[in-house]
Amino acid sequence: MIISTDRRKRPSDFRLERAEVVRDDYCPFCAGREELTPPEVFAYRPNGAAANAPGWDLRVVPNKFPALQVEGGLDREGEGMFDRMNGIGAHEVVIETPDHHKTLATMTETEIGRVLSAFRERVRDLKQDRRFRYIVLFKNHGGPAGATLEHPHSQLIALPIVPDFVREEIDGARRHFSDKERCVFCDLLRQELAARRRIILEETEMVALAPYAARFPFETWIMPRRHECRFEDAAPHEYDSLARLLKALLGRVNRALESPPYNLIIHTSPFSEETTDVYHWHVELMPRLTNVAGFEWGTGFYINPTSPEEAAKVLREAKV
Ligand SMILES: [Zn+2]
Ligand SMILES: [Zn+2]
Ligand SMILES: [Zn+2]
Repeated sequence: MIISTDRRKRPSDFRLERAEVVRDDYCPFCAGREELTPPEVFAYRPNGAAANAPGWDLRVVPNKFPALQVEGGLDREGEGMFDRMNGIGAHEVVIETPDHHKTLATMTETEIGRVLSAFRERVRDLKQDRRFRYIVLFKNHGGPAGATLEHPHSQLIALPIVPDFVREEIDGARRHFSDKERCVFCDLLRQELAARRRIILEETEMVALAPYAARFPFETWIMPRRHECRFEDAAPHEYDSLARLLKALLGRVNRALESPPYNLIIHTSPFSEETTDVYHWHVELMPRLTNVAGFEWGTGFYINPTSPEEAAKVLREAKV
């Protein structure tokens, strides 16, 4: 990881790509167009409305139609993963709200909390299928981040393998644990909260920080204060706290960085291995501010033109 001070820039110097996606007048995710998606596998319907009809707050549908097949998802980190899973796997879309024009930043905390609970419910259901070792939960916001539809949605992919980005974190966490008998993420959180320079926002149960080895400008990690290896085993008040933090954080990101496209990925333990003491679930947010050049991907080094201290300061001080 290289933090290049020569290439250091202020946020306003980035050539920003706004998170705009061409409006689709025939959006298959809007209320009243339920017949355009495969039948729902899960929904929140407050008044008990019939499945696959209007009256829902959130729907989860299989991703089986061409408009979304092209949405590969996980940016370059997950490249290749989808080829390897050919044949088995579940790919589902969480339609976060019936309202086409909302975003995670403009939804209420209750609405964001609903998205998190839907993720938890789907993970708990899908993990009963022993073929799956991992479920990737992610959101691509804005065209440059890979979203093909404007309507607020996130995705879930159940895999028969553990993706590399998680494998590497777990292997590192195991090494730390075998040296120190402590969780590396708990250690990191403790150090960051003491030093404060890279802390962005704090919530009752969650902390947002700029990781000291940030690979991308304004990369942000959201970590639960309580040690827990699995996202789906978080407590209800932790999801509430995460919903509040996400809303506040994305509001600041939009303000400071002019509503950039972003990728949001939940990092959680695989089902296939025991990680109770060593791993610590968290959320990674990557605003898409610069196009990462071939150099970084080819060599494995990342040149990040904004230091994490500077990024944390900009977001901390952003007026919402
Ligand atoms: Zn829509
Ligand atoms: Zn921990
Ligand atoms: Zn991670």
